[in-house]
Amino acid sequence: RKKIGVMTSGGDAPGMNPAVRAVVRAAIYHDCDVFAVYEGYEGLVKGGDLLRQMDWNDVRSYLSLGGTAIGTARCAEFREREGRLSAAANMIRNGIDALIVCGGDGSLTGADLFRSDWPSLVQELVDNKTFSPQEVAPYKHLTIVGLVGSIDNDMACTDSTIGAYSSLERITEMVDYIDATATSHSRAFVVEVMGRHCGWLGLMSGLSTGADYIFIPERPPKAGEWHQELKNICSRHKAKGKRRTIVIVAEGAIDDQLNAISADQVKDVLVELGLDTRITTLGHVQRGGTAVASDRLLATLQGVDAVKAVLENTPDTPLPMIGVLENKIVRQPLMEAVRLTKSVATAIESKDFDKAMQLRDSTFAE
Ligand code: ATP
Repeated sequence: RKKIGVMTSGGDAPGMNPAVRAVVRAAIYHDCDVFAVYEGYEGLVKGGDLLRQMDWNDVRSYLSLGGTAIGTARCAEFREREGRLSAAANMIRNGIDALIVCGGDGSLTGADLFRSDWPSLVQELVDNKTFSPQEVAPYKHLTIVGLVGSIDNDMACTDSTIGAYSSLERITEMVDYIDATATSHSRAFVVEVMGRHCGWLGLMSGLSTGADYIFIPERPPKAGEWHQELKNICSRHKAKGKRRTIVIVAEGAIDDQLNAISADQVKDVLVELGLDTRITTLGHVQRGGTAVASDRLLATLQGVDAVKAVLENTPDTPLPMIGVLENKIVRQPLMEAVRLTKSVATAIESKDFDKAMQLRDSTFAE
């Protein structure tokens, strides 16, 4: 009987609970035992009470629950071989030989490393007499499947990550609130949104709310010129009778010389223009709350497919990441997706912004 572990790792995202629910129930449906690994990789490294077998009812009401009920953490120990050795021992102790990890590119890179280390970790556990060769015999191969849970929508090879649309919805709702008061007072608001190095949340929320100007890392404005451009655009909109001004600044906003652009700098420019300007940093409200329906669906369909991918996995299959392309659930080679994701950052660092934009659009399937 297959024993599958499921964990959430890295930053939490709405939809992680529906993903865990889908994995737990699909695993039970397919006659597997399923364990929740609490607190991300920490649960594997520490074991004990942090590994708990789940039954059908344990995930009741997870669909409408925000955050991640099984917890998430950043676990430094897992980055070290010693930590991964302890993780391997805890998995074998509980009979777990497959893992479904829902997290961002860091968590999934860690998963890939764990899988490639696995044979040597198992050997070391025999050499140091933690287990006998007979005990580890069934654990020659570790199956891992990745689900991408992140509000940033920053992973290549998938159209959307679990949580991204919930976060976009929340930002849009918040900007609508701001809009009302901004219009009443004829004020300008600079709204800072999350996304780290990815401008998806900034761009999409800007489009959804009709922002006057959007700063995202993949399309940086010209250093030394954007102050005037911002002023010209906002003045033009004002002249057309628009009472409020909304500027969206993505967390990773930069100019084309890679200087960071902060909400404060943008505010100063708007003040120079004579606008009564406020900053709203939305912060963690962007991650909270329940998942929107599309994220619940995505997490459910992908969670079910993750269990199928575990059952169909062979030692030669490249570590699969469950993605979605044009509304179809797909399996992508995880490390290729991580490589492409990292190459966007590299393109930005080398100021090749057209390439960064192209890479953001590209999918491995093409
Ligand atoms: P988010 O996009 O929300 O930040 P993430 O999964 O990228 O999510 P990270 O903090 O990068 O978040 O990674 C989460 C955890 O995954 C780390 O705390 C660590 O335990 C593990 N991890 C990340 N990178 C590696 C790595 N290269 N080797 C081993 N483990 C790693």
